[in-house]
Amino acid sequence: FEPGRAHEALRRVRAVPDHPVAGVTFQDVTPLLADGQGLHDVVEAFALAAARRGEVDLVVGMEARGFLLGAPLALRLGTGFVPLRKAGKLPPPTRSVSYELEYGSAELEVGRKSIPAGARVLVVDDVLATGGTAEAACALVEQCGARVVGVDFLLEIDVLAGRTRLSGRSVTSLFGVP
Ligand code: AMP
Repeated sequence: FEPGRAHEALRRVRAVPDHPVAGVTFQDVTPLLADGQGLHDVVEAFALAAARRGEVDLVVGMEARGFLLGAPLALRLGTGFVPLRKAGKLPPPTRSVSYELEYGSAELEVGRKSIPAGARVLVVDDVLATGGTAEAACALVEQCGARVVGVDFLLEIDVLAGRTRLSGRSVTSLFGVP
């Protein structure tokens, strides 16, 4: 991975003011994913970050954009990929964890047998905002008896300080936005 290329890829992320609600700047990664070189460079950067952590048995990603980065990363690392889905999407039996959003609450689910106990798991998503989703994802992985070896993001929104909810964990963001 060449650092120069990272910035090229970053330029393809589109910051959209006031979406989905007023006051939120939505970081749209889909133009980056649509670019072959950008997707390649970002997956390589994730792979480099993963290599620094040692062995990874499984990549886990959160619905929906965590799937788009996590699955190609798993292929690159030679591991499987497990989706953490929003409530009601996966067939039973599942495990689930509820967490608070800014307004209301949400639930993440995983197939009961999808994550083996003892697995060394890398959690991947596109954006670290408040950290609630990633915190819930880690809790779910640990409920399965597996170990979170890292939590990796394409973009971290610094002002929201989501990293504080992941303290004690190994967190890497490829890019930060203020
Ligand atoms: P949070 O739980 O607040 O850290 O939110 C993280 C989840 O919501 C991730 O799955 C992101 O895809 C999505 N998300 C939150 N804020 C943004 C944003 N400003 N731009 C894009 N995605 C976001």
